[in-house]
Amino acid sequence: MNIALIAHDKKKTTMLNLVKLFKPTLKHHNLMATGTTGTRIIEDTGLEVRRFQSGPYGGDQEIGARVAQGKVDLIIFLRDPLTPQPHEPDVTALFRLADVYEIPMASNIATARLLLETVKSLT
Ligand code: PGA
Repeated sequence: MNIALIAHDKKKTTMLNLVKLFKPTLKHHNLMATGTTGTRIIEDTGLEVRRFQSGPYGGDQEIGARVAQGKVDLIIFLRDPLTPQPHEPDVTALFRLADVYEIPMASNIATARLLLETVKSLT
């Protein structure tokens, strides 16, 4: 599967813990991420990750373009709803695209864990 991983700053530690927990599963899949999220995952877990621009510089849109091309199968976007994001329209657009193309997308850790448990059972 092609799996996109994105985390707002206050959720990056949560993302790292999630990726570490599911590393044995995730290593069998193609991972992509926005810039800073991707760097942190690579540094902390050693997993191979295709990095796009940082979110505020268009990374969400780059991943959105791949959704439109049918190149993304699952998105985990750990949002921080309590902090205003300078690129909020892009964030919203990515969620919209996930619904247009009916791609599973988690916006919080609880949903993310459920989705990755399913991926694990299929891997
Ligand atoms: P980042 O982008 O991984 O480059 O921090 C995430 C986002 O804010 O959308």
